[in-house]
Amino acid sequence: MTATTPAFAVSSIADRFAEVRRRIHDAALAAGRDPASVVLTAVSKTQGDAALDAALAAGQRVFGENRVQEAKAHWDERRAALPDLELRLIGPLQTNKAQDAVELFDVIETLDRERLAAALAAAARKTGRRPRVLVQINTGAEPQKAGVLPDDADALIAAARDIHGLTVEGLMCIPPADEDPAPHFALLAAIAARNSLSVLSMGMSGDYLTAIEAGATHVRVGSALFGERNMVPATS
Ligand SMILES: *Cc1c(COP(=O)(O)O)cnc(C)c1O
Repeated sequence: MTATTPAFAVSSIADRFAEVRRRIHDAALAAGRDPASVVLTAVSKTQGDAALDAALAAGQRVFGENRVQEAKAHWDERRAALPDLELRLIGPLQTNKAQDAVELFDVIETLDRERLAAALAAAARKTGRRPRVLVQINTGAEPQKAGVLPDDADALIAAARDIHGLTVEGLMCIPPADEDPAPHFALLAAIAARNSLSVLSMGMSGDYLTAIEAGATHVRVGSALFGERNMVPATS
């Protein structure tokens, strides 16, 4: 008799990390890529102390956060003991929080307008910290979604690099929820290639294997690692 079995048994956060890492490894090999060329960003927004500490105990060091204040609460104290921690901002950033973001994050994935590039550059001069930057592309041209439109991407990348002196190392996207993500990942890869950018942050719990096939260097995985989030309305 065959019982309905879940795709994988999950008993703890450590098991989930092991399973997601195994899947990333296998997807990279299947795509003819070096598994080490795909970085798992664990999306720790809304998680409590026990979940964060379980992720750290599982060896995870690269984390994505949506909001500056929440990220501070999660990581300000912990990071003192974690020299290899890498914090990546993956949520929208207001210019008035640019300095807080520059002080906390190693990578800011959501640059999407020139005014923000100017604010990040000013914050970098003031603080002496120079986070690397990804430009977020609104590949589906969704009116409610953050990100620069694909047609305006080259100009923003050039301005961020050449006018504002930011270290732009790649691109990020969040495909429309109700569409096949593959064409969006392909579009992101094409924009990156023509701008000589090597980092592609794309793929979430539902589509990170597709993203790896399309060339993702960073996959942003939350619920597949931590379980479903209690949805807290984002206010910033
Ligand atoms: C929340 C979030 C994720 C993770 O989503 P899951 O579906 O839980 O993996 C990835 N990227 C961004 C930008 C997010 O806001």
